[in-house]
Amino acid sequence: MSLVVSEIFYSLEGEGLHLGLPMIFVRLQGCTIGCQWCDTKYTWPEEAPESLQMPEEEVLGRIAAFPGRRVSVTGGEPLEQDIHRLVGMLKEAGYWVNLETSGQLLETRVMDRVDFISCDIKGPSSGVAPNLRVLRAIVERYPRKAQFKIVVGTPEDIEFAREWSHLDNLILQKDSTSAYEFTERVKMEFPRARYGIQLHKVLWGDRRGV
Ligand code: SF4
Repeated sequence: MSLVVSEIFYSLEGEGLHLGLPMIFVRLQGCTIGCQWCDTKYTWPEEAPESLQMPEEEVLGRIAAFPGRRVSVTGGEPLEQDIHRLVGMLKEAGYWVNLETSGQLLETRVMDRVDFISCDIKGPSSGVAPNLRVLRAIVERYPRKAQFKIVVGTPEDIEFAREWSHLDNLILQKDSTSAYEFTERVKMEFPRARYGIQLHKVLWGDRRGV
């Protein structure tokens, strides 16, 4: 079998509970979710001029060239390809594996196997209706190994986020609204949540592959 890979690179985790940890990213090609503010639109087509068809063995070989032992399988939406074999091979090779997913798809064979699930909850500014059935299943099945990220760029997003304010690992990520107003509201209205930034954008702006 093989996967369509957009890029493989070694960087720092830019978001969430593992922010700042050295991480190898395997970015898979393909996403049909269509978030309005998506910053990886180049991954949307099933194939792109720079994407590569790669057997899992080759993906592992490229990963092994980096010094890190943590791998984030991201996209695109990585669950739109069959990544069960890749995840199994990574685990057998001793890697800590994160799945970065949209919260729109449930794939328990993969989710049971990874060490951590970083799951988006799509709010109103994404332009995408969240899949509540999938989100509730992830919350219930993986209470100790999932984080949930909501991009909060508008007052409507903040209202929407209230429905999820009971979650232990809720990350509210600022978009483009006033940082002061946003941080004040997170602090006062979401005392259990964590304020999130995108470290990679602070360090490298919109560059790819870093
Ligand atoms: S799910 Fe991720 S890759 Fe797909 S459109 Fe949304 S932000 Fe972009």
